[in-house]
Amino acid sequence: MASSILSDCSSCATSRLLPLRRALHPPPPRFRPSPGPAPSPRRPLLLTAAAPLPLLPRARRMAALSAAASSADPATVLADASAKIIDGKLVAKQIREEVGVEIARMKDATGVVPGLAVILVGSRKDSQTYVRNKKKACEAVGIKSYEVNLPEDASEYEVIKHIATFNDDPSVHGILVQLPLPRHMNDENILNAVSIEKDVDGFHPVNIGRLAMQGRDPFFVPCTPKGCMELLHRSGVEINGKRAVVIGRSNIVGTPAALLLQKANATVSIVHSKTKNPEEITRQADIIIAAVGVANLVRGSWIKPGAAIIDVGINPVDDPASPRGYRLVGDVCFEEASKVAGAITPVPGGVGPMTIAMLLSNTLDSAKRIHKFK
Ligand code: NAD
Repeated sequence: MASSILSDCSSCATSRLLPLRRALHPPPPRFRPSPGPAPSPRRPLLLTAAAPLPLLPRARRMAALSAAASSADPATVLADASAKIIDGKLVAKQIREEVGVEIARMKDATGVVPGLAVILVGSRKDSQTYVRNKKKACEAVGIKSYEVNLPEDASEYEVIKHIATFNDDPSVHGILVQLPLPRHMNDENILNAVSIEKDVDGFHPVNIGRLAMQGRDPFFVPCTPKGCMELLHRSGVEINGKRAVVIGRSNIVGTPAALLLQKANATVSIVHSKTKNPEEITRQADIIIAAVGVANLVRGSWIKPGAAIIDVGINPVDDPASPRGYRLVGDVCFEEASKVAGAITPVPGGVGPMTIAMLLSNTLDSAKRIHKFK
């Protein structure tokens, strides 16, 4: 239904964000590094994925837009949507299949099965869901999962002790500590305890440092930015020599995404909360990666015609028409951007599914490296 396809960006996005009371009732947690499929109350314009990206058939596009015209603010309903939609679900499925094939090949040749250990502290429902989803995804491709569940009041020492055990366990090739950790714990101490050779989340400062250096490569690239790059590559978006803008500079998404684009020879600007004229800077970009956490921040007027847009943001907004009472939107106003951009990821169904696929890929890479399997 077109009315559920398009979101209304005309009102201030933040005023439509879910109130805090919603935090008491699980729904859509703010997405954190560790992945898990988000609920999908809203279907995006369903186009396709891998290179080259086909366009939505014109008849469907027009039907969607005309239905939107009757339900949305007329000011936001522009002439036509022309962007190719980058289907992250489809690309992620292809990657999971590729990983599964490689794992079978490695097992046949060496008898080794990659192993991923996840440490969960506390009983946050969203974290439990993510961990469950990771486990399922591992099983589906043939990765053995190991799990440790600790109570909310566990000590930092206990967590580090489990990390140390996994660091020494040869059947474990990847270690992931589910974030966020309880407040009394110091994330840095804990993440630093993970062996850089098993840091499949790629959050260890040495991995980030190596990512930043010319002529060095990290052992692992953080999953979400790696997924963004994979979407660009597999969609045939040229990066070399292009201008890129990354909006957001977090350690887990924005900063590594900017470093990756730079490594791929883009000229990169980073827009953040203190940037003056973000719109003007963003409008110069051939490639935009938005990782902010502000619903519909990036409007059509921010976008250079033909730009490729990767929207990492996952923001719940109230939607009384949805059975759950909310729906998820990105940091980019999809209905405006899709009329200006050359290619764009939807939310949901864009970057989200890629994060877990990249985790599986990182775990496989780790097992291959440790066992010197080519
Ligand atoms: P964060 O809060 O750690 O960082 C947000 C960044 O945005 C900060 O660097 C801040 O400077 C910048 N920022 C804030 N307001 C801004 C503004 N008005 N203009 C420009 N920059 C602004 O968030 P994060 O962890 O990087 O996540 C960002 C978004 O991506 C969130 O919506 C999150 O849910 C989503 N996310 C999705 C996935 C996924 O798998 N799809 C993974 C991680 C994060």
